[in-house]
Amino acid sequence: MKASIDRENCISCGLCTEICPEVFRLGEDGPAEVHGEVTDELRQSASEARDNCPVSVISLDE
Ligand code: SF4
Repeated sequence: MKASIDRENCISCGLCTEICPEVFRLGEDGPAEVHGEVTDELRQSASEARDNCPVSVISLDE
């Protein structure tokens, strides 16, 4: 599974980085970025981060 973020529309709330820090982190320029692979073990927390992003900018592709 591959994660991506529409960084232009991320509001830098940090929620995804709290839910799944193994995959998401806040970039130095503000918006969140993907820094890790979505392994099988992380699918659930990455999906939770996607579902809870307040502006729905996280995508997960098989
Ligand atoms: S939860 Fe969404 S808006 Fe918040 S930092 Fe992550 S990607 Fe950006």
